[in-house]
Amino acid sequence: MRFTEFNFHPNLLEGIEASNYENATPVQEQVIPPIMLGKDVIASAQTGTGKTAAFLLPVMNTLLANHVDGQVGALIIVPTRELAIQIAQHIEGLSYFTHLSSLPIYGGNDAQNFVAEKKALQMGADIIVCTPGRMIAHLNMGYVNMKGLQFLILDEADRMLDMGFQDDINKIIKSLPTKRQNLLFSATMPSKIRDLARKILHEPVEINIAISKPPEKIIQKAYVVYEPQKLPLIKKILKETPYKNALIFCSRKQTVKQLTRELKHGGFTIAEIHSDLEQAERENVLSAFTAGRIPVLVATDILSRGIDIDTIDVVINYDVPGDGEDYVHRIGRTARAEADGSAFTLIGEKEHNRFAAIEKLLGKEVEKIEVPKELGEAPSYNPRTRSGSGSRKPQRKFYRGAPKRR
Ligand code: AMP
Repeated sequence: MRFTEFNFHPNLLEGIEASNYENATPVQEQVIPPIMLGKDVIASAQTGTGKTAAFLLPVMNTLLANHVDGQVGALIIVPTRELAIQIAQHIEGLSYFTHLSSLPIYGGNDAQNFVAEKKALQMGADIIVCTPGRMIAHLNMGYVNMKGLQFLILDEADRMLDMGFQDDINKIIKSLPTKRQNLLFSATMPSKIRDLARKILHEPVEINIAISKPPEKIIQKAYVVYEPQKLPLIKKILKETPYKNALIFCSRKQTVKQLTRELKHGGFTIAEIHSDLEQAERENVLSAFTAGRIPVLVATDILSRGIDIDTIDVVINYDVPGDGEDYVHRIGRTARAEADGSAFTLIGEKEHNRFAAIEKLLGKEVEKIEVPKELGEAPSYNPRTRSGSGSRKPQRKFYRGAPKRR
């Protein structure tokens, strides 16, 4: 499903486009519509599924229509300052072309920040992302104004309860207006989360995104590269790895077209599949691939689900897919039935975080192989670098002052 189908505000769509999101992930497809309808939602979804944008986008869209000056529109409570910062960056990216203001509120920073936080909590900001402890510190001072709050979002709720934040959360909720829309996200759904949900949510829509794990027999490896190294590396892998059928995935069809062109020039017998091809053309390409007449196929994620060709023994991810589910589906195209298979992922400079999220989901690190020396020096794996996802916007600082003018 494409983002243009959600009826989002044009300025929000611009932010989505600048973040290089083309299609909604499964959790986004399921979570966005009920939130847009004003429903409470409880969703079990892990990091790496695109869950943050799943709640941010409909919340931002509503706030763009229902902004109230001088009020906090949405409060997102998260377990750690790292997550608060990460979500605030996500908001910055997606809201870049809007007038929405936001602020992360977390402990351990300086007095100047406390003043800015106090101001936002008194004078309003569209979205506040906070850790429970710091929010309680502000609440105790008596100036927090949540009268106009429209959304309460609890993210990684299971982790918050594990960290002992239950009482803090209850206290924060007591300070909120009772009429509001509530969203609860949790990687797991133990009974204590269900109890919390019963207290907070009103007739929630329940969404469960079960993440499948790839079969153990798929050998997964990854290369950490600079973007220009991707093409020569793919050529090298295709030349040096024995395969019957190799399937290369790219997230965008423009990349599929460009890579196919380059590899054709390089002498490979290759074809492409993406949504610009008619159904009949796709079927022709697939049957030539299955029959071995075309050994290499470059495809978008339209091919990552469902197709079952047992001669695919190599899958290459030209880029890191947007969510863990797509990764599992992509690499699951190999090692079908009794066959073995290898999956190589090329991690570009801006894709470290995204890949780390996938590894978290897999519950293990994927082996990183050294980039061949003749391709030049390669970067080291550093998932702390934010994956701005090739965004065309400059990285801005958080809003730390008065709300933006509209
Ligand atoms: P999350 O599960 O929210 O931590 O997101 C994991 C990663 O996926 C983040 O780097 C997001 O920027 C990215 N992401 C979220 N939604 C999409 C999408 N629809 N297409 C591509 N990337 C996405």
